[in-house]
Amino acid sequence: MIYFDHNASAPLLPAARDAWLEAVEQYPGNPSSPHRAGARADHALEQARLSLANRLGCHADQLIWTGGATESANHVFHHFAQNAPADQPLWVSAIEHPAVLAAAERSFSGRVERVPVDARGVVDSNWIDTRLQSTRPVAVVVMAANNETGVLQPWSALRDRCRDLGVPFVCDATQWLGRLPADGLGGCDFVFGSGHKCGGPRGVGFLKAPDTGTLEPFIVGGPQEGGRRAGTENLAGILALTAALDWCAERIKSGEVKAREATRETFIQRLREAIPDLVINGGEAPRLWNTVNLSLPAPDCRPRWVVQLDKRGFAVSTGSACSSGNESPSHVLLAMGLPDERISHAIRISGGWLTSATDWTHLANALIELVKHAGAPTTP
Ligand code: PLP
Repeated sequence: MIYFDHNASAPLLPAARDAWLEAVEQYPGNPSSPHRAGARADHALEQARLSLANRLGCHADQLIWTGGATESANHVFHHFAQNAPADQPLWVSAIEHPAVLAAAERSFSGRVERVPVDARGVVDSNWIDTRLQSTRPVAVVVMAANNETGVLQPWSALRDRCRDLGVPFVCDATQWLGRLPADGLGGCDFVFGSGHKCGGPRGVGFLKAPDTGTLEPFIVGGPQEGGRRAGTENLAGILALTAALDWCAERIKSGEVKAREATRETFIQRLREAIPDLVINGGEAPRLWNTVNLSLPAPDCRPRWVVQLDKRGFAVSTGSACSSGNESPSHVLLAMGLPDERISHAIRISGGWLTSATDWTHLANALIELVKHAGAPTTP
């Protein structure tokens, strides 16, 4: 099986697996325990916190370990809900992951205003700027890179604009981390990510929050994480997460992103030559090198493509993993204003660092073959 669904969950990187195995053997103690085994585990935990803080550009004590991005998002909105005035709106981009949208809606029912995106899938910064002239929201929430289209969002400009006006800026960096440089993300008031999207394990993530004021705990029942998140830390998972990020950072530093972008473009070019009516959703905007969201010009809808490709040995997706199996139209493509037919024919392809150029070529060949079989126009 050639795996093209890294945005749903990336396979564990060998470096992360090694770190995990080493950690479970070396650190049997609970980081909160008073004996030496506990102290050793606590030391490893704090070293990992420091490593992530250095990567993001924030202080280690601004970071808490969580069970993943969904928990982090719930934590942020739970925190705001304890402190925000009852009538203040929360601005959340229309293309956030369902984990963010649902958590925001639960804590701010009736007060969530969705920030629109343009046809390229980029958040409308003018919408935010114009409204900021007269309104102060609880926070502005915009992800770093979209999980369905890979489209990069103007998070650093929004971070700076919000900082100037004293409006908290929240960024879901789940799909960005491990793929593009993390510099500057720590400057967002709140930023979070998840282990299993960047080659770390599932069930572990983080949340960076400002150290001014108190972060309301979302999970209570223990003093861990400075009283901000109860529960024994998943030390092996955390060490595996930071090992995965270290490994990815080496690839990014050595300039591999450019080569990966070229591989993606060759893939698209090959498809375009063979399938003239193919469209790339979000194709006009800068995107993650690993993600291609495309709509195929054939009678079949997207679940069928996914099944057909699966039978030929390729794992691709129809959108965010959480909405797969529930074939309602993608809220991301709807927010971009794409026509129904394009939305119902869209599939998401997402590779990883260990996906080779040959894997992409095989996938292109399989797609072209399928489209031919389905009777849609192709170039011989
Ligand atoms: N945010 C984004 C952008 C995602 O892609 C995902 C998972 O698909 C999540 C949040 C949720 O992450 P987790 O599985 O760690 O809860």
